[in-house]
Amino acid sequence: MPQSQLKFVILDRDGVINRDSDQFIKTPDEWIPIEGSLEAIAMLNQAGYRVVVASNQSGIGRGLFEMSALNAMHEKMYKALANLGGRVEAIFFCPHTAADNCDCRKPKSGLYEQIGERFGIELRTVPTVGDSLRDLQAGVAVGCIPHLVRTGKGMKTLEKGGLPDGTRVHDDLAAFARWLIDDAAPKPQPTAP
Ligand SMILES: [Mg+2]
Ligand SMILES: [Zn+2]
Repeated sequence: MPQSQLKFVILDRDGVINRDSDQFIKTPDEWIPIEGSLEAIAMLNQAGYRVVVASNQSGIGRGLFEMSALNAMHEKMYKALANLGGRVEAIFFCPHTAADNCDCRKPKSGLYEQIGERFGIELRTVPTVGDSLRDLQAGVAVGCIPHLVRTGKGMKTLEKGGLPDGTRVHDDLAAFARWLIDDAAPKPQPTAP
């Protein structure tokens, strides 16, 4: 099957897959999955979705942690996922701070463009899930369909409002996965009695 026919989902990391912290997630020990999130990724995989992560990691640019720590966090995530039969295809991250004025720090769409190029896919209509407005803005800029979760900063984001048109809100990643698999899938038409 050509890549373009595969189904993709693009996820934010902190506050969507793992618990977030205003002090940043700096070590593998601080990387703690949100209940049900890894199972949700495995469920998406089983339903034929390839999952890719797009994450701002300015803690690197701020000197709060090294690349080796980020790699170790992601090893922890890959292993925990593998135990559940799940996987993410790749983790795209922006290591810069706002002052760097890069093209990849969300709400800019650089990470999404990198994903499109790497997998040779059209991003239009690809679902993207975040807990912050900037996640949704970055996705919408390339045509992704925005989904907000209430985990992480999600409740605050919801209170502030101003979400992109068409944003759907879910309790958490597990609720999003169930919705995408069960409700968004085309249903057979009911037959007349
Ligand atoms: Mg987040
Ligand atoms: Zn960047």
